[in-house]
Amino acid sequence: MNPWVSVAKERQRQEEKWGQQDHEPMMWMGILGEEFGELCQAVNETHFDNGPEARKKGGYENMREEAVQVAAVAISFIEALDRRYGRDDE
Ligand SMILES: [Mg+2]
Repeated sequence: MNPWVSVAKERQRQEEKWGQQDHEPMMWMGILGEEFGELCQAVNETHFDNGPEARKKGGYENMREEAVQVAAVAISFIEALDRRYGRDDE
């Protein structure tokens, strides 16, 4: 699937699950940090051999899924920033 489509679908899924999110920027760092941590885990479990159970959290599919989630959360953060600070000039 085209990466942009993957991110758009994930962004839509998040919107349906949680609705509009207007957190403080510091809260966004926690949310984005968690997603980035999950991406790090997927990459680590691809790179390192921590046994067969840990390996299930790695690999192409998991790395891609987590990267898409990071991108979708970043977009949601941008949307919240634009609402908060009025930047909507494009
Ligand atoms: Mg994730």
